[in-house]
Amino acid sequence: MDCIFCDIVAGRVQAEVLHRDEQVIVIRDINPQTPTHLLVMPTKHLDTVQEINSEKASLGGHMIVVGNEMACQEGLADKGYRLTINCGREGGQTVGHLHMHVLGGRQLRGQMG
Ligand code: 5GP
Ligand code: ZN
Repeated sequence: MDCIFCDIVAGRVQAEVLHRDEQVIVIRDINPQTPTHLLVMPTKHLDTVQEINSEKASLGGHMIVVGNEMACQEGLADKGYRLTINCGREGGQTVGHLHMHVLGGRQLRGQMG
């Protein structure tokens, strides 16, 4: 299966990797929408956040913990930031490997769609 994020996890495609553990990696988005724009993604391929069921709930929790830690590391803790997961076509997901955006570094608008 062709997956750009699996290629990044495997080191076949270059990316700025800021964190890696057994469950997730964190990279800088190639086309940042905000001064800080990171992607937290599982090292094992999942298509969408819909696959986070009760058995995988700890992975979902870990993604949030790491997102918070990365936001802290990027100096966003005091001013605030946004964690976003797009799901499926109408949810705005363009890469079919689950990932969570960490967005911050400027005032974000309240747009929810
Ligand atoms: P989505 O729209 O699926 O929620 O977000 C996909 C994100 O992945 C986009 O923000 C896009 O810029 C980013 N992206 C797509 N391809 C690459 C890549 O090859 N490297 C990196 N670092 N980011 C990518
Ligand atoms: Zn993948």
